[in-house]
Amino acid sequence: MATTPANKPSAYYKEPGPKLDKESPFESMMERFRFAADLLQLDEGMFQYLASPFKQVIVSVPVVMDNGKIKVFEGYRVIHDNVLGPSKGGVRFAPDVNLEEVKALASWMTWKCAVVNVPFGGAKGGVRCNPKELSKAELERLTRRYTANLLEVFGPDRDIPAPDMNTDEQVMAWIMDTYSMNSQRTETAVVTGKPIILGGSLGRKEATGRGVVTVTLAALSKMGIMPNKTSVVVQGFGNVGSVSAELMYEQGAKIIAISDISGGYVNTDGIDIPGAIAYMNNNNRSLEGYPDADPISNEEILELECDVLIPAAKEDQISRHNAHNIKAKIISEGANGPVTANADAILEENGVLVIPDILANAGGVTVSYFEWVQDRQGYFWTEERVNRRLNRMMRSAFDNLYKVSDQHKITMRQAAYVYAINRVAETLKLRGIYA
Ligand code: NAD
Repeated sequence: MATTPANKPSAYYKEPGPKLDKESPFESMMERFRFAADLLQLDEGMFQYLASPFKQVIVSVPVVMDNGKIKVFEGYRVIHDNVLGPSKGGVRFAPDVNLEEVKALASWMTWKCAVVNVPFGGAKGGVRCNPKELSKAELERLTRRYTANLLEVFGPDRDIPAPDMNTDEQVMAWIMDTYSMNSQRTETAVVTGKPIILGGSLGRKEATGRGVVTVTLAALSKMGIMPNKTSVVVQGFGNVGSVSAELMYEQGAKIIAISDISGGYVNTDGIDIPGAIAYMNNNNRSLEGYPDADPISNEEILELECDVLIPAAKEDQISRHNAHNIKAKIISEGANGPVTANADAILEENGVLVIPDILANAGGVTVSYFEWVQDRQGYFWTEERVNRRLNRMMRSAFDNLYKVSDQHKITMRQAAYVYAINRVAETLKLRGIYA
């Protein structure tokens, strides 16, 4: 595959420079966006439209701290796009949150929703704060004031927040309650990732890992590899990594290495995953000292001989520095942005099938969509129904992208961007530009 598509003058495509590996996953994403825009021959106006966020809001969030003093935090909400439907995306609380990051993550959500055919646009929000330094009462006041300042932005038909870094079910419950108090009715569908008792969905917690496994099994089947003849390495053993490992294990795969922040653990005879999860749960959520495997570093684990590698920890793990050493046949991106743009071409050259993050980990947003649907119906599905529908949507998204990739002779990642951008652009053409 050539790195520039269709041998034509490139309007948007920029050769990824060596600087990329040090840059944000978003810049890697933008490289891929430009490539797809070029392949689709998007006209410049459409490109500008899709590259510009629809709405960016910055709010001051004053909070009376436990000591009686007022402290003012800065909060953000960016709606990248709402062409396909109300916008959807998490809210993060972290000391380094800023508008640029939130803008980037919002557009990422647009492509992710479009890839799995979820009728949502993309958004993201955040408050610049250090949640570790806040008491629970301060966190609640911060969350409620942030929500109150965004009452005109949020709404079940407008913009629907969800958990992200350092925000959880409790934070979602406060957002939902604040919004509901102000609209004088209970509006469960205004957020997803809520506690089950407040209208959350069964299966949401496991959804991302479950989706990773659905697309991994689909890729294995395309390669004619039986799940029970598959060796798997999983980097990161949190929500996404541990569920992916467990479900692959249930399929009969041999999980030869796992890791978390404490380091990696390898056993080529196969790791007993339910045992490793039990060990972690009894060990303060850490794999440190896991006895039934040999220690290995988080860098080495990526280069092990295996069929499937699931990076499920953090961004920028596979770059042009180590991409040459990857021996896996399939990389299934559980994490967001674990492979940099510069590594893409190396992996492609070496015949590694990369299932891109905007497909592989889209199970989470898919079940968030199910949660929103159930809240609006006021009728709740069994876990079995949630899982079955999740499986169907992930499988169908995989098949769509596989077809696009085959048709244009491009990678699955390029296909994901081409498919998503085309879907949003086609919808926008039908809707037209309101004047
Ligand atoms: P988590 O906090 O539950 O787990 C993260 C895991 O990675 C932990 O085991 C942690 O110890 C490990 N880790 C952290 N730093 C590491 C390092 N340097 N090397 C190796 N391991 C390290 O988080 P999660 O929810 O499982 O999310 C993991 C990734 O998946 C993130 O990139 C996240 O954005 C992405 N993701 C998560 C969801 C979801 O629904 N949870 C959805 C989409 C994408």
